[in-house]
Amino acid sequence: MTANLFKKIKIFPNEAIQRTAKNAAADFNVMCSELKVLGMHDKIKIHCCNCNVDTWQKILFKKSYQWSSDEKYDHCSKSIVTECCGCEQPHYRCSSWMQNKDGTEKDMEDEWVFPPKQLRTKPSWNTDFAFSSIFSTFFEGSSEKEHAWDLLREVHVSLQNNCPRLGVIGIRALLEHIMVSKIGDQKSFIKNLKEFQNQGYISKIQEEALVHVLEIGHAAIHRSYSPSQAELIAALDIVENLIETIYIYDEKSKHIDRNVPKRKNT
Ligand SMILES: [Zn+2]
Repeated sequence: MTANLFKKIKIFPNEAIQRTAKNAAADFNVMCSELKVLGMHDKIKIHCCNCNVDTWQKILFKKSYQWSSDEKYDHCSKSIVTECCGCEQPHYRCSSWMQNKDGTEKDMEDEWVFPPKQLRTKPSWNTDFAFSSIFSTFFEGSSEKEHAWDLLREVHVSLQNNCPRLGVIGIRALLEHIMVSKIGDQKSFIKNLKEFQNQGYISKIQEEALVHVLEIGHAAIHRSYSPSQAELIAALDIVENLIETIYIYDEKSKHIDRNVPKRKNT
């Protein structure tokens, strides 16, 4: 086979070989220019919301803006559209800042990314809960679950968009909705919580944890408290555990009950 290959090479006249070499060089140049377009200068390593790690991303669009003013500072911004080289997820990233006329000093830097970074994965039952809450509204005539899911969705949006105050206020509203739907309004949060525990919806340990969750919501509304993202995540963990107990386990236990054969009366 190697001998045949040499034979094929030998039958090319010199001119043909040179032309082939020129074509190859031209092809190589084209490749180089294509590589330049997609080269390292046109890629950046940033967070991919889908892969949930930093990945190389192709820059599809990049534009800078600068608004000059009579003041000492100019207002600048930069927009970039990228595509993850791994999963092909597109991202839009917009940053803005104020800078000196000579560009030496930056201030008031801000960045907005869409889709935003996933700070915490949603619970595995989240999608099922969304569907079952809609079915519940249509087939059972109760919007209790759908309203709970909608509030939970808004809390997730607050977390993703770095709005912890709105997040804890949303959690407070979500807790109140769940408690009042199950035990009626006892006219105060603490009485609602006590009755919620008395009727067996939560354990004593859960009640104590929920007192803290309600308190952080009160502080954000009435005492200008600004919770951290970590505090919002902790409160969300507790309230999702409650939703799982009240709505998700209830569905699963009904499913088991339908499938398990009943005891025969002796
Ligand atoms: Zn990706």
